[in-house]
Amino acid sequence: MPSNVLPPAMETAELIWRDGVPESTKFGDVYFSRDDGLAETRYVFIERNHLPERFHSLGAYGHFVIAETGFGTGLNFLATWSEWLKQRPSEGDHAILHFISVERYPLSRADLRKALESWPELAPMAQELILHYPPLINGTHRLVLAGGRVRLTLYLGDVLDAWDDLEFQADAWFLDGFAPSLNPDMWLETAIGMVRTHSKPGTTLATFTSVGRVRRALAAEGFAMAKVAGFGRKREMLIGKLPVTENAPPQAHSPQSVAIIGAGIAGATLARNLAERGVPVILVDEAPEPGSGASGNAQGALYAKLGVDYNDQTELAATALAFSQRFYQRWETEFWHPTGLLQLASTEQEQDRQRRFLSRNRYPDDVLSQVTAGEASELAGIPIHREALWFPQSGWLQPAMACNTLIDHPAISAMFDFRVASIRRERGQWVLHGPNNQQITAATLIIAAGHRTASIAPRAQGTELRLKPIRGQVTQLRSESTQLPQVVICGTKYLNPPYNGYAITGATFDLHDNTPFPTLESHRENLEQLAQLLPSVNISGPADASELQGRVAFRCTTHDYQPAAGACPAKDEDCANGAYLLTGFGSKGLTWAPLMAEYLADRICGHPPCLNRRLSRRVDAERLYRKPLTDR
Ligand code: SAM
Repeated sequence: MPSNVLPPAMETAELIWRDGVPESTKFGDVYFSRDDGLAETRYVFIERNHLPERFHSLGAYGHFVIAETGFGTGLNFLATWSEWLKQRPSEGDHAILHFISVERYPLSRADLRKALESWPELAPMAQELILHYPPLINGTHRLVLAGGRVRLTLYLGDVLDAWDDLEFQADAWFLDGFAPSLNPDMWLETAIGMVRTHSKPGTTLATFTSVGRVRRALAAEGFAMAKVAGFGRKREMLIGKLPVTENAPPQAHSPQSVAIIGAGIAGATLARNLAERGVPVILVDEAPEPGSGASGNAQGALYAKLGVDYNDQTELAATALAFSQRFYQRWETEFWHPTGLLQLASTEQEQDRQRRFLSRNRYPDDVLSQVTAGEASELAGIPIHREALWFPQSGWLQPAMACNTLIDHPAISAMFDFRVASIRRERGQWVLHGPNNQQITAATLIIAAGHRTASIAPRAQGTELRLKPIRGQVTQLRSESTQLPQVVICGTKYLNPPYNGYAITGATFDLHDNTPFPTLESHRENLEQLAQLLPSVNISGPADASELQGRVAFRCTTHDYQPAAGACPAKDEDCANGAYLLTGFGSKGLTWAPLMAEYLADRICGHPPCLNRRLSRRVDAERLYRKPLTDR
């Protein structure tokens, strides 16, 4: 990586264009054939892997996994997506195409657009891909496309790291590095060995090259290899297949039914995610309506604090932030307001942290950039006296409305005022007992009940969950009495732009206070800290402070301040299947929920997970369980 590119930014591809065909200056090779790139893709990768018939014959709830070396312009991906829709035209189809690709030198968005302009018949898909194209930062990016029927996992990094980091078993491979002589890294024996590791019995592969060394390395891994006629002027290409074994593991299946406890942003995003994958969901909550707990404020900022070092924790936060921004785009006219967000360094300590952060990292401008006090003031529309970080794609949501909208789906049945009295495991099913002898039975159980999770989750006797509630009180400001910003401001506190004459500021972070209603003391704390954050703004509440309006909720935080999404540890054999936690989002629930829901839904349905192994371990739910110290 050249020294001017600090992580996590990626070195983008440098292209030269000849007759509309992009060529890599680094590798001195073309991205696709000069004859007809799309026809070549169809011939080499789609037809030689027998994808039309394999797509067609897949069951309505099945999934098909393609892995590719070298995403490049995304032409192979778009052609495959187009074939998928051709073979499976029904909008009601629940089968999912998972396309996993790796790219070390991604195209800039502008180059991607230009490269894909050559294929008018792929235009609607190309537009969707460009809209969702992730920020070019190192790591694993999941793009949910075609209403969830096509899922792209794009690993930005080196091929060897990708195959080491990702968990998946491919049904078919597109080996599409540049020519082996120009791009030897892609064709190393280690890389080819990993192709085998990530393949199922019966997996097929296709590649444009016919180089003997590649053929022999694949054959040595157990692929039955053959040379067949190549595309256009190329004489030959290679195809391969792993033998089908009799005791192949059965394909994972989505659960028949899922019960989710908790209709906050965690439960609501997961319910929607599963419902769109065709899984019927019963969502229960003890409150009379969705978003009644920590997800019930009138406004909430979409925000992540990125660490000074780009370690696993920062990667997880940056990935979740970018994923949530893509996820909420769909609801821009409803509950999502992408105004942009300024992060101010209001204390000496925070200024120092921001300085170190900026000297050690380079983020693309679509994630964040540094702005002067003057620029910040202009963006915010109110005076700001310090430099700041500007997150152009962030903003704020109406969280309760988000929960309501998300659960409005025919595959979700919601039951409110349902306080779970007990949970039992009966004949391989989870049975929830509620009020008035009501009972719910489901194959899979998810507890997404925020700070109530610890008291509900199934656990072996003598273990406890390391979750704690943290009180948060917000205060409402009226736009007529305070100068309010047109973007979200974050620092020690946050302040939202006004909506319907009000803006929410807050929240307190009270570790040892269980007061369930708003207090004057907490309102004062919110206003005082906001005044310190924005000293040039006249922040005033009503003349009589006791008339201040606000709301209290309890966030759920884990011991390590990382979210939890994963299986509960098995209590005994019968318990081994089907109970999961989705919680511990602290004050960043709006940011964590979409990615954690996507990840947990992948796990529950047996699909390739959208997080790499390192990040999966970070969010593992088992880490929350421990025996109390007194018992050890
Ligand atoms: N499949 C692509 C398409 O549809 O446009 C074309 C792929 S192009 C022939 C090969 C790609 O592999 C390039 O985008 C290149 O940057 C990428 N690449 C080369 N070496 C790599 C490595 N070590 N790790 C990851 N990607 C690499």
